[in-house]
Amino acid sequence: MSESSSHLPPLRDVIREYGLRAEKSLGQNFLLDQNITDKIVRLSGPKMDGVNAVEIGPGPGGLTRAILASKASQLVAVEFDPRAVTALQGLVDVYGAERFEIVQGDALGIDPCDLVPAPRAILSNLPYNISTVLLLKWLTQIREDVTCYAFLSLMFQKEVADRILAQPSSKTYGRLSVMAQWLCDVKRLFDLPPSAFTPPPKVKSSVLHFVPKNLDAGQPRFETMEKILAAAFGQRRKMIRGSLSDYAAEIEQVGIDPTLRAEDVPVCEYVRLAQAFES
Ligand code: SAM
Repeated sequence: MSESSSHLPPLRDVIREYGLRAEKSLGQNFLLDQNITDKIVRLSGPKMDGVNAVEIGPGPGGLTRAILASKASQLVAVEFDPRAVTALQGLVDVYGAERFEIVQGDALGIDPCDLVPAPRAILSNLPYNISTVLLLKWLTQIREDVTCYAFLSLMFQKEVADRILAQPSSKTYGRLSVMAQWLCDVKRLFDLPPSAFTPPPKVKSSVLHFVPKNLDAGQPRFETMEKILAAAFGQRRKMIRGSLSDYAAEIEQVGIDPTLRAEDVPVCEYVRLAQAFES
C-alpha cells in the first residue's frame, strides 16, 4: 500500500457516508477486499508501469485505489452512478486531477481511446449485464488497431469467462470464444466465489487478462467474422454444410470438412473461411 492510500478511509465507511446502497440494475457488486483488488493489478504484470488506465465502473473505488497505488501514469474512471462519482472525489483530492479523473456517463457510449493516450489499458470489475457488449466493442477496436490497448484485465461472471476461454469441441465454445481468441491472447488470472463481493452475486466470477495479438495483415473484417459465426452457432448442432450453406464454395476452397459442427471448427479455420469469403 502506498503512503497516500494508507490515509484513505475504509471502503465500508465510504459506502455508508455516500449512501452507496448497491443497485441491482447497475450490476453493483463491490469488491471491498484490497488483497483482491491489489491482486488484479499485480497479476496484470509489468505492462501496468507507465500505462494510461481506464476503469469502467469504479463504484466505491476498491480497484481504483489499487490502480492508483500502481505505477500507472494516469487513470480515468467512467462511472454511471452519480453517488459513486461524488464518493470518488476524495481520491481526486489525494492523487490530483492530473493523475485521476472521473467521467460520469454510460460506458456503452464512451470510447476509452478518447479518454487517454496509448499505451492504454482497461481494468474493470465489469457490470455483468453489459460485460459482453463492452468486450465486443473493445474487440472491434482491437481489430482496427492492435496498438489500441496494451491489455485488458476484466472481471466477468465465471460462466461468461468460461465461454470466452472455451476450446473447440466443448459445449461452451461459441462466438465469444472465437472472437476473443482470434484477436487476443486470453488467460484466466483467478476465480472468485460470490462471497468475495458485497452484496454477493448469485454467480461465481473470474478475472481474465487479454493481450491483443500482432496478427498478419489481411485479417478479415470483424463484421464478416460475426456474420459467419452467427450463422454457424445459430444452429450449432447442425453440420456446417447446412448452417453455412451460403459459404459452401468457401468451405470447399479452404478445405474444411463440411460435416463438422460449428463447435468443432477451430478459430483459425473460421478466419480462413472469412478471408476466402472476402477475397
Ligand atoms: N469497481 C467497483 C468494485 O469492484 O467494487 C464496482 C464494480 S460493480 C460490479 C460495477 C460498477 O459499474 C458499478 O459501480 C456501477 O455503478 C457501474 N456501472 C454500471 N453500468 C454502467 C455503465 N453503463 N457505465 C458506467 N458504469 C456503469
